Amino acid sequence: TLFTDMGLSRPILDALAAEGYEKPTPIQAQAIPSVLVGKDLLGIAQTGTGKTAAFALPLLNRLSADPKPTPRKGCRVLVLSPTRELASQIADSFRAYGKFLKLTANVVFGGVPVNRQIREMANGVDILVATPGRLLDLCNQRAVDLSKIEAFVLDEADQMLDMGFIHDIRKLIALIPKQRQSLFFSATMPKEIAELADKLLKDPVKVAV
Ligand code: AMP
Repeated sequence: TLFTDMGLSRPILDALAAEGYEKPTPIQAQAIPSVLVGKDLLGIAQTGTGKTAAFALPLLNRLSADPKPTPRKGCRVLVLSPTRELASQIADSFRAYGKFLKLTANVVFGGVPVNRQIREMANGVDILVATPGRLLDLCNQRAVDLSKIEAFVLDEADQMLDMGFIHDIRKLIALIPKQRQSLFFSATMPKEIAELADKLLKDPVKVAV
């Protein structure tokens, strides 16, 4: 499989060439076509497999194919990530793969002052990457509104469970529209994670690498 055979738009292919990516990794080859057509996805994959691009590329493609104003205080795509480092890397990846598109990405995480994050979210962004606790704070303060989300990614779900984020995640999911695309990634599938995936995903394509 080649990136050029997967239905990705020219600006995204150009960004991949600029990144020096020659061909899709196995999870990318399996996930991108399904995510591009709007399907839910359950991905069993570790970091290092190229899973970030497996969700970022098709979601960027979908957003750019259907331009809309950014929702006030909101976002069109939400990615939840367990740590600030990972969240920042994911946001950087969206920016790199989307550098020839007119889309905005922001990252919010805890342990830093909240005021700047509130200001940054006032006009909304296309893509928001967040750690669960801080995002829930921002929602409770009415600084972030998740009601316009079109696609939702839960990354490193097993690590979220280990870090005690599962309650925050359940509360956040309750704030997101039911009609949405959902992508769920975990390196392992303990019972509680399998149950959460089952609740979240509708007729998902399953990919294990
Ligand atoms: P990830 O598993 O998403 O953390 O990605 C692991 C690393 O692989 C990152 O440094 C990516 O930039 C890189 N990468 C992802 N996809 C590809 C690809 N198709 N070709 C070359 N490098 C890639």
